[in-house]
Amino acid sequence: RASGAVRVRYAPSPTGYPHVGGVRTALYNWLFARHHGGRFVLRLEDTDQARSTEESARAMIDGLRWLGLDWDEGPDVGGPYGPYRQTQRQELYRAYARRLVEMGRAYPCYCTPEELQARRQEALRRGEAPKYDRHCLHLSEAERRRLKEEGRPEALRFLMDDEGETVVHDLVRGEVRFENALLDDFVIMKSDGLPTYNFAVVVDDLEMHITHVIRGDEHLSNTPRQVQVYRALGVEPPAFAHLSILLAPDRSKLSKRHGAQSVDAFREMGYLPEAILNYLALLGWGYDAEQQIFSIPELVEKFSLERVSKNPAVFDIQKLEWMNGYY
Ligand code: GLU
Ligand code: ZN
Repeated sequence: RASGAVRVRYAPSPTGYPHVGGVRTALYNWLFARHHGGRFVLRLEDTDQARSTEESARAMIDGLRWLGLDWDEGPDVGGPYGPYRQTQRQELYRAYARRLVEMGRAYPCYCTPEELQARRQEALRRGEAPKYDRHCLHLSEAERRRLKEEGRPEALRFLMDDEGETVVHDLVRGEVRFENALLDDFVIMKSDGLPTYNFAVVVDDLEMHITHVIRGDEHLSNTPRQVQVYRALGVEPPAFAHLSILLAPDRSKLSKRHGAQSVDAFREMGYLPEAILNYLALLGWGYDAEQQIFSIPELVEKFSLERVSKNPAVFDIQKLEWMNGYY
């Protein structure tokens, strides 16, 4: 790997159909990689086994392929590559978790959901933040042994640095500050042995040498947690760029009734990949005030994160319709 080469990823959870917001995220990552001659990675975040389905995974893969958003590597040899899947990388998460435990930055927690809930209620009654009270951090060796012998499920929590601030330098949002005292010791490994999102995402982005994390705004509040895990491991976090949400023309939350469905639905409605990509590129990015029609090579040439807006963009199926007529 050439040093300094751009590496980005699209990391959907296969729990539903590829919707416009997700496809725009994939597109921006792909454009950024192609613009910089870097690499684009597809990673299915399927550790939530109750919600992940193979049908959804297929839809994600087929949708990207149909749109022409090709990825550059994967676990299969010889290509066309399959995506990386978190469920196939469990050894890795366990190894990192062990490392954090050895460093004193993670500890086992035996609390049941009922106990956690009861203590949270109590904290609220006292007017305190309802965060994890570090009950299990302070267990004696004997207490720990007793809980283990009782057969209590064991999760692992990350020991947060709870002083000062975590500052995220976001390429779209600018500097965003988070007060560490408000963050709790979140679970990194569940008692079923699977990692949580905030932990697996750090291990993967680090192991895959991701240089820029471009993703939806809904993950901005997770970023200080992830930054702290990077720091605990002694590595610099990647650059972050959080994309604003998409709204409906009436500025309400985008939903099915606005015609904002899956890639499959667009395909069935007869929209062309070029028109879809052209239209989605303009939801939050623009080259100048004038130009509306861009070929894919032109998008690759002109795309930059500097011109991504932090304001919500409006998805309007009428405009996609118009654009499709142009193609
Ligand atoms: N699996 C996450 C999601 O679908 C991706 C988060 C990320 O890109 O870090 O929301
Ligand atoms: Zn506990």
